[in-house]
Amino acid sequence: METTPDSACDELERLACHPKVVALGECGLDYHYLPSSTNSAFVGASIATGGTAPGTETLLLQDANLKNRQAIFFQEQLDLAVRLSLNVVVHQRDSWADTLATLQPYAGRLRAVFHCFSGTPTQANELIALGHAVSFTGIATFKNARDLHESIRQIPAHSYFLETDCPYLAPEPHRGQRCEPAHTRIVAEKVASLRGRTLEEIARETTATAEKFFRFTPTQ
Ligand SMILES: [Zn+2]
Repeated sequence: METTPDSACDELERLACHPKVVALGECGLDYHYLPSSTNSAFVGASIATGGTAPGTETLLLQDANLKNRQAIFFQEQLDLAVRLSLNVVVHQRDSWADTLATLQPYAGRLRAVFHCFSGTPTQANELIALGHAVSFTGIATFKNARDLHESIRQIPAHSYFLETDCPYLAPEPHRGQRCEPAHTRIVAEKVASLRGRTLEEIARETTATAEKFFRFTPTQ
């Protein structure tokens, strides 16, 4: 992100006009690696080089700068999605409130899928009320993902689908290995068991939801 050139959106627009493009993304806000949260690494590096570690104010300014830059790119990509009538795949990490606030003015003009969703039923409902969808990864099979399990139990049909997030987030018992499309079956089995449905029902329903979101046609 820090190294993304200011003109990145021009190139993105050129690429997004290709007829095979079905959505724009991932795009969004990620506050997981802000300068202040990686402070200990910062201090270590400064001491090692004989420098002075940056103070809290400097780090917070750097945080604000990075958040601003992400917000500008996110908005540019949302504008582009509206212009090209494409849905968006949203990445959000530790940035829930800002991501929703950024999306708010676009309500009714584009649909988003919050990929790799692992939040609470309340968060899922907030997105669905705005017309958005979520998608589930191998996290669904992790024992400690209790909020997500509850979301999967409660979420209305046709507001979610499944994904790999390849190469990340392989389901149990493949956790930590490279995730493959074939692993999606394991995620579907877990979703089926949480919702008290058959694997076939979940497969049919999530496929139809994804096809609608990405506007796949039978000829593609
Ligand atoms: Zn992501």
